Amino acid sequence: MSVRVRIAPSPTGSLHIGTARTAVFNWLFARRHQGTFVLRIEDTDLERSRPEHTQNITEGLKWLGLTWDEGPYFQSQRVDLYQQKIQALLDQGLAYRAFESPAELDAMRASQKARNEAPRYDNGHRHLTPEQVSAFVAEGREAVIRFKIDDAREIEWNDLVRGSVAWKGRDLGGDMVIARAAKPLDIGPPLYNFVVVVDDIDMSMTHIIRGEDHIGNTPKQILLYEALGADVPQFGHTPLILNQQGAKLSKRDGVTSISDFQYMGYTPAAIANYMTLLGWSPPEGMNELFTLDEAARVFGFERVNKAGAKFDWDKLNWINSQYLHQLDPATLTDLLIPYWKEAGYSFDPVGDRPWLEQIAQLVGEGMARLDEAIALCRYLFVEDVGFTESAAQHLKQPSVAAALTHILTALEPTADLTAEAAQGLIQDAVKTQGVKKGLVMKSLRAALTGDLQGPDLLQSWLLLHQRQLDHPRLEAAVAIARPNNV
Ligand code: GLU
Repeated sequence: MSVRVRIAPSPTGSLHIGTARTAVFNWLFARRHQGTFVLRIEDTDLERSRPEHTQNITEGLKWLGLTWDEGPYFQSQRVDLYQQKIQALLDQGLAYRAFESPAELDAMRASQKARNEAPRYDNGHRHLTPEQVSAFVAEGREAVIRFKIDDAREIEWNDLVRGSVAWKGRDLGGDMVIARAAKPLDIGPPLYNFVVVVDDIDMSMTHIIRGEDHIGNTPKQILLYEALGADVPQFGHTPLILNQQGAKLSKRDGVTSISDFQYMGYTPAAIANYMTLLGWSPPEGMNELFTLDEAARVFGFERVNKAGAKFDWDKLNWINSQYLHQLDPATLTDLLIPYWKEAGYSFDPVGDRPWLEQIAQLVGEGMARLDEAIALCRYLFVEDVGFTESAAQHLKQPSVAAALTHILTALEPTADLTAEAAQGLIQDAVKTQGVKKGLVMKSLRAALTGDLQGPDLLQSWLLLHQRQLDHPRLEAAVAIARPNNV
């Protein structure tokens, strides 16, 4: 039987890193076994589901390279099927209508709490007589539909990640609601645990690979497979992604959605690589930098960890920097242009292309994230860069004004400047002013970039010269340097 797996996100928010990592594992498993990877949008919660979230999810999956072979299927378009299946369970006596009002259910829970018992439905309406049902209907009550859960059952499965897992029927909270309240004879909106099983059966899923947060749903779902007369697929519950404190990674930890990572300037290959490492270890001898295709050749659940995976920004940044450093200047330029635009820097993406590619080449080496290019490249784009406190302090040192004035006088603002010529100007200043080369370099950096650190100085100078920004900056630096030196 060929492998069929799915990712089944609910479009109630952007594509979350946890969902994306689950998608990665499903994708890798499907590719490893030449199977089929299905995308199903679980949008039965009509109030919280939004088309823009669906779009964010599908775009995020595509951006990561997690292409699906089937779908997207939308649960909102399959409600007839769910209702038929619920009707079948009602007809077989495996499900029933329960009429308790929300207030009655609250009271039930409150008295259980008072007795120090775990909250559960007491299965009170499991055996209503036809007369009791008629009385509730006459009262105008609505009914939910509950699936019968046998308290005496033991439910066990062999989890692909966790090995043997067992649950007791009596720990499942009593007969479970599979459809929300509706007028009697109607079937209200069906709920997650039910529709997911109907779909996984209908779509012939062989393996259900999902986050560990769903582990408590699995015993309920296994009972539903049995009730619906279907084979139970294999389950694999993957470890959660945790923050550094060991709690589930959430919005409070900063970014959590794939589009946030994209916006911050992580490459899709780096994110996909890092997500795979969050919970899976490559076999001995395999480099930890790999493409999804490379990982798919060796992926298996025997190397998926049981313990939660701590999200480590330093590691992600390191991986991303490795990917950025591999990019050729043209590709890097394409990736950087949106960030420079967003920063409001003025340039002509076509006419200035050679200059922009030189910038990309200059800064690429030092970057871990694309958005760093905004601050890193500011001095190359803006007219008035200003001076940091330390740069201004340096410019006031003795001999700085004289050295910079020497360079300024010799520099032809509009003529081409080569690396050799620029070096010659520096050497001249050293010789004629009798100062150390280090002082001249530091002064030039302060003058040209407004700071004491940054990308390669000589290259920066040549790039600034192409825009005729070096002359005015040297003038401004000399102006603040001179007062202390007269
Ligand atoms: N819609 C569920 C979620 O987003 C899917 C869970 C499952 O894979 O069964 O968590």
